[in-house]
Amino acid sequence: MLAAPGAGKGTQARRLAQHHGLEHVASGDLLRAEIVAGTAVGRAAESYVNRGDLVPDDVILEILGPRLKSAAEHGGYVLDGFPRNRAQAERAYQMATDVGGIELQAVIHLEVEREELRRRMLARADAESRSDDTRVTIEHRFEVFDAETAPLIGYYEGRGLLHAIDGSQDVDAVADVIVEALSGDGDEVE
Ligand code: ADP
Repeated sequence: MLAAPGAGKGTQARRLAQHHGLEHVASGDLLRAEIVAGTAVGRAAESYVNRGDLVPDDVILEILGPRLKSAAEHGGYVLDGFPRNRAQAERAYQMATDVGGIELQAVIHLEVEREELRRRMLARADAESRSDDTRVTIEHRFEVFDAETAPLIGYYEGRGLLHAIDGSQDVDAVADVIVEALSGDGDEVE
């Protein structure tokens, strides 16, 4: 699930995982849990997350690697928030080649206008009080997305994996469109 902050990655990834009986693996959720638990990884990640910068690739791979392998053994996963730059995408690809059975089979890009993203995140800030949902940090996360993550759209398009989905509709409508888009992909999402 590839999308700018606020586009609904978490909501839609959770729904899709439930629909297909897969695991939902969300890099941001895993990082926030490590931060709350005060682990070494959490302490290494905290300042990056609070600033809206990407956590170093080694840190994120250390958390995600074992989760992806175990999720793949249990039928598969919906991955939310990873990879987030080209280096992560290449390392994920390498890991999948080494391990087998954990490769990406489809990439969903949720498209939502920037103004709508701002509106959603500021609304969420009141409800969830995430440390990175402040006006300044939200703008920085957009910059990071544009510079680091948006180039992956073309990368996955080139590999024939990309599905562009209009994420501006309501939650149920977006979920339906995603399931429909993936139904043409064959047995990997059955
Ligand atoms: P959002 O998409 O709204 O920014 P996430 O929960 O996906 O929310 O990510 C929150 C923060 O966690 C990011 O701003 C970043 O600091 C960190 N993070 C999440 N995934 C990654 C990743 N794959 N690589 C590096 N940092 C990450």
